[in-house]
This record gives sequence, C-alpha cells and structure tokens, in this order.
Amino acid sequence: VGPNTETEKSVNSVCPFCGVGCQLEYRVKDEQILYVEGRQGPANEGRLCVKGRFGFDYIHHPHRLTKPLIRLPNLPKGLNVDPANPLTHFREASWQEALEVAAQGLNRLKSLYGGESVSGLGSAKCSNEEAYLFQKLIRQGFGHNNVDHCTRLCHASSVAALMENIGSGAVTATFNEIENADVAILIGCNPTENHPVAATFFKQFARRGGKLIVMDPRGTAMKRFASHMLQFSPGADVALLNAMMHVIVEENLQDQHYIDKHTENWMAQKQHLQRFSPEAMAPLCGIAPAQIRDAARTFARGKAGMIFWGMGVSQHVHGTDNARCLISLALMCGHVGRPGTGLHPLRGQNNVQGASDAGLIPMFLPDYQSVAEEHAREAAESLWGDGVKLSADKGLTVVEMMDAIHSDDIRGMVIMGENPAMSDPDVAHARAALARLDHLVVQDIFLTETACFADVIFPAAAFPEKTGTVTNTNRQVQMGRKAVESPGEAKEDWLILTELADHLGLNWQYGSVETVFTEMKRLMPSLDNISWQRLESEDAVTYPCHGEELPGESVVFADSFPRSGGRARFSPADLVPPDEVPDNEFPYIMTTGRQLEHWHTGSMTRRSRVLDAIEPTANCSLNPVTLKRLGINAGENIKLVSRRGEIVMQARADTGVAENMVFVPFAYVEAAANLLTNSALDPYGKIPEFKFAAVRLEVA
Ligand code: SF4
Repeated sequence: VGPNTETEKSVNSVCPFCGVGCQLEYRVKDEQILYVEGRQGPANEGRLCVKGRFGFDYIHHPHRLTKPLIRLPNLPKGLNVDPANPLTHFREASWQEALEVAAQGLNRLKSLYGGESVSGLGSAKCSNEEAYLFQKLIRQGFGHNNVDHCTRLCHASSVAALMENIGSGAVTATFNEIENADVAILIGCNPTENHPVAATFFKQFARRGGKLIVMDPRGTAMKRFASHMLQFSPGADVALLNAMMHVIVEENLQDQHYIDKHTENWMAQKQHLQRFSPEAMAPLCGIAPAQIRDAARTFARGKAGMIFWGMGVSQHVHGTDNARCLISLALMCGHVGRPGTGLHPLRGQNNVQGASDAGLIPMFLPDYQSVAEEHAREAAESLWGDGVKLSADKGLTVVEMMDAIHSDDIRGMVIMGENPAMSDPDVAHARAALARLDHLVVQDIFLTETACFADVIFPAAAFPEKTGTVTNTNRQVQMGRKAVESPGEAKEDWLILTELADHLGLNWQYGSVETVFTEMKRLMPSLDNISWQRLESEDAVTYPCHGEELPGESVVFADSFPRSGGRARFSPADLVPPDEVPDNEFPYIMTTGRQLEHWHTGSMTRRSRVLDAIEPTANCSLNPVTLKRLGINAGENIKLVSRRGEIVMQARADTGVAENMVFVPFAYVEAAANLLTNSALDPYGKIPEFKFAAVRLEVA
C-alpha cells in the first residue's frame, strides 16, 4: 500500500497524536484507511512523523469496542480483563439500557451523597466541542467544578506561571516563528521524539546558523544540533536559570527599555538574582560557570530569541517556579512580542490546548474565565439556561480526585477517553481508587486499563471516525473530518454526551457538532472571527484573529499583556528540592517520558502494526557505565524498585542518560512506569513530579 494504491476517496483531517497538529489526508477504500499523506498545514508544511504516517491502523484493530457493555455482578474490579474478550466480565447491552444504567447510577449517588460525589475526567484526545460538552455535563449536571483532564499531568504548571505573569496560558508565538529567530533555548524537551515535525524546524534553524541552546539532564538527539549543550543535574532548573539571569544583570545585558515599558516587579527580581551567581550555582547544576555565562550572553545578545520547553520543566514539584524563570528570562531580554521571539510550552496531546481553552479544567470556565468570577458564571448560566447555578469553588484536579475517592468524598465518575489507570502517578493508588468507586462510566474506543474498572462502557468513535475542531500547540484551530464509519454501534463522543445528558435529565438540544461549536463560541471571545464555515473552507485559523479575512496572530503581546495594567510580571523563584531525593536504599533518579513510536499509555500505538513492530518491548535507558556497574548487558532485563512498586523491563544503553539516572517510557502496561512514580504535586499547577523519583536498580 502506498501513494500509487487505488483508493475511493481522500479526506482532509489532522493527526490525532501530538500537539504539533500536522494536517494530513486519509486515503480510504472499503471503509478502511489504506495510507496517509501529509498536507500543507500551517504547522507541518507537508511533513509527518512515523506516528502520523503509519499509526492510523489502530482504528481497525479487533479490540475495538463495538457495543455498550455492562459489568457482570459480583466480580472483583481490576486489570484482570482481557481486552480481546471483555465478555468474561461484562455483558453486551443496548444503548438504551446502558444509558439508563449509567444515568441511574450517577443520579443515585447525587441524591444520596450530593452532586460532589460524582466527578469527571475528559480527554485532550477529543474535539473542542466534546471537551466543552463534557465540562458542561459535570458543571451543569452535578453543580461543581470537579472536572479535569490530562493537561494536569503535562503543562498545568506552565499554564499557572503563564497566567500569573503574562495573563495568558497559551504560547506567545508559533514554533514556526523560529524561522525569524537568531537564538533559541530548548529546555526540558525532546522534540525529536515527542514533537518530531516541530523538531525538523528546529534542526533547520540550527543548520542555517541559528544559535540553539539545548538544556536538559538527558542528552537527546537535539544535542547534535546545539551550539550550546547544558546537560544539567536533574531538578536544578531554577538554579541554572537564575544563574543565567544573574549573569545578564551583572553584565548589564538586559533590555532595560523593554523592562521599563512592558513589565512590573523588576527591582524585586533583580535583587533576588544577586545570590545566584554561576559560581554559587555550578555545584548544584553540574555545569561550569563559564558555560552558564556563555549561554546567558548568547541568549541575551540575540536580536530575536525564543524559549521552548516541555515536561522536563513542568513535571516537578517546582514546575511552576521553573516556568516562572523562563518567563522572566524572556522578559528581561525583551524576547516577547516581536517576530522570532516568544515563549512556547510545547503542548503534548493533539487537543490539550483546545480542551483547556474549552473549560475542561477545574478552576476555569471556557476561555479561562475564573469560576470565582460572578460575571463569568452568570454568562454561562444564562447561556445554558434551565435555571443552572454554577459553583464558585475551584474543583479538584486529577490526582486530588483519586485521593477524594479513597476518602469517600467521590463515589462515582464519568471518564471520557482518559486512562488514569496507566497515566496517574503512583498508579497502584489510582487503580485502587477506581476499584473503590460505586459507579464508573467510561466512554472509549478500547477496553483500556481504566475501562476494566467500569460499571458501564460506551463504545466511542475514534478520531478519524468523527468531525470536530482541535487546537494545536500553535493556537491553530483546525478541522478534523470523518474519514470512515465507526465499527459496530460505536458513536461519536459528543453524541454519547448528549444522550447521557438527556438520561440525566438535562435539556440539551444539539442537532450537530456545528451547533455545539456555535454555542461554545458564545463563551469564548478568543474564537472571534473563527467560524465553522471558515474552518470548513480554510482548515485552520490561528487565534486570536482580528478579522474574517485574516489568518490570525502568529505572535501576540506586541504592545501589552492581558493583565491589569497591561504589563507582564517578574516572579522571582527560589530553590525547591525534589520531593524524593535519592538515598542509600534508592540511589538512582528515575525520569519518565514518551518514545517516538508510542503515544502516552499505548492504547492506540501499541495497537498499530507498524509502530508496535518497531517498539514491541517494554524498555528503559541507562548509561553504559551504569549498566556495567550493575553487571547488566544491554538487552537483558532489569528490575526497577521505588517506594511504591517495582517493574521489570529490558535495559538499553544510552550515553545521553546521566550515570545516576534511568529513563522509563510510560506506554507499557506490562511494566507500567507509573507504578514507581511519586504523586507529590507542584502546589500551584497541581502537577505530579513525574520527572524525579528515587529508585533502586537490580538484576532481574
Ligand atoms: Fe502527528 Fe505530531 Fe507526528 Fe505531526 S509530529 S505527524 S502531529 S505525531
């Protein structure tokens, strides 16, 4: 099968995997996607990575759920269900019966224990319209804000810092703006594996002479393109960034004109930086003072600089502090608001930006309107009608919900397309919570590890089987289109939500996904000038967009920031140690992440023939020196033990991993990395410390 294979139709859509948001074309015959080609989207310019090009066939996998399922009575809840044969623990049901059982269970808990006993986890894998409907279902149906999704596990701390200091949680410039930059920092990210098409633009930037400052505890593939490589000690982000800013102040390299005109709290920041000299911070960072000075000078002297970061920055108990430092560094150099400048947290999931924008988070209604603001609640109440009264209290976040189940404050959940039984930190604790629920309703495309715990399962349409909008890391709202029919009785998530709402007694009237988009827009001024019709004809429009003929703003905040007074803020950050430091019993640092071929918890990519053939085995990466010290050869099994659990996986040699570290992908259910991770949270973003846990390594 390839470009010369005869097909019946081609459908233009968007890749369902990462936040780059590559536009692609499905080539279809007999309701099967035969192959995929890249299109000239604004983010990808025709390019695709291995996941986008070859990872589509998960939708045709025999494990697809095709009928609603209801749990058989008196069976213990756990992971003991074979996804190929769910009928050992569930029975098939009609949609009508499954909806009735789901709604009756949720309504029973509501009447017995109050609306707060039911919470919801939506998904960044669903469309904007589905994210909007999901948060509305929980807020309207149960009267609280206990609704969240996986943004809590990836960039919640970045968003907290961005909201606090520049008044907006989205990127200030598209990653493609690097074409106009002459210096860029990549910190705590591995774009070659996690944002592969974006990485090609970064590599081109370096090849044409741009200064690329790569900062990461792990030496990744981007090291080869770096003008400066700062492979610093894990957890030392604030020490390193403050030291760089110290140099900029000491050598008077800051853009004082920009600081005076566009920022506040500069004097406090300047004073705070005094004690962070490179000489004082070098032992903490593991980076020589001269290297720190060189990187600081290079970034400050650049005419146009950008900062890109990933979850190496955000997934720490000091993740918000890390992001505060990056914001301060960009502001003091005047590297915001002009072509080739900007702050860009590389978003993970294909629609994590859009799901957050649509209000699928416990502290904000759509468009980041605080739930505490009366006017914001009134706007939603009046639009949603039916006498709805919204709560002014912030809701619980992902990890907090699991704790609340253990304390019986939450007894029922609706989970759409999320897999906390694999993705949560200290996942044994999360699995025990899911097993404890009185009533769990799951809608998904497979019997995921989370669905194994469900009481009712709705079979959902996969991304290429539905139409809806998604928003990528660049703030580009894009149209995803239905290419093939869903198998069996599977339905689009937005339809499932409207039918569940109906059975819960909510009076929702949506004739199409377009009507959902139209309603959502009324609460989201950020979507002004972006209509359904425009997206149908243009495929992508960037927000904010100031006219119906305009493509939207690639760079924002040229004149002012959306904060009171219009100024950005410096927030000085102090040193906060990791929650769990290595000791004699657990002497190594474990960090987790993704691999090029596998997406998050693996439910899609491990069911993709090509991707799973390339990476079929649970593996972890260690420095060859560490392997030798342990007496383990590459390819042999290794046991990893933390205070919370143990796993066995294949060891790989990787000189990019520091000698005191092990890197573990989290896609493998047979060796789930999150059995080991620490659930300690950043106090602002409430993000867990996935990037730092103390472990012991043993011969398996
Ligand atoms: Fe899909 Fe991301 Fe790869 Fe693009 S870079 S093809 S969006 S996974």
